[in-house]
Parts: sequence; structure tokens; C-alpha cells
Amino acid sequence: MCLGGGFDGGRSVSDFQAQLEKARGILPLRRVIEQAGKAPANGKWNRFPECPFCHEKQKAGVFMPDSDRFELFKCFQDTCPAHTAVV
Ligand SMILES: [Zn+2]
Repeated sequence: MCLGGGFDGGRSVSDFQAQLEKARGILPLRRVIEQAGKAPANGKWNRFPECPFCHEKQKAGVFMPDSDRFELFKCFQDTCPAHTAVV
């Protein structure tokens, strides 16, 4: 995963579109979680202090998969309902 720092100049329209799509993909998920009152208390979206679904500590977070434009909520607890939920 490489975030920023790689671009020098050649920013094209398609780059901008890709960034916009990325932003659109990020906002709804986080906003939905915020509005549900499940935002991480520590402000670290990639490492929730506690999973909002199963309440397991340090198991859940919001991730941006390299292959995808949209962030995903993921919990590493096998029994977590978020495993099967579409978030
Ligand atoms: Zn969980």
C-alpha cells in the first residue's frame, strides 16, 4: 500500500476522478458508522478500540483494500456478525 508521495506533476483528469470516487467511497461508510454512534472512541478508523458489532477489543477496523475503491469494515473475530454483514 502506497499512500501519497508518489505523484510529481502529471496529475490527469482520470487521476482526479479516481480520487473523487475514492472520497465518495470513503465518506458514506464512515458517516454511516458515525451516525450509528459507532465511531471509534480513539479516532483511529483502522483500529477500533472495540468492535461495534461483537465488542471484541482490537479486532475491528475500516480498511481500504488495494484492489478496491471502497473502504470496508472488517472484524477479525470469527464469530462477529460483521463477518457476514454488508457494511
Ligand atoms: Zn466484531
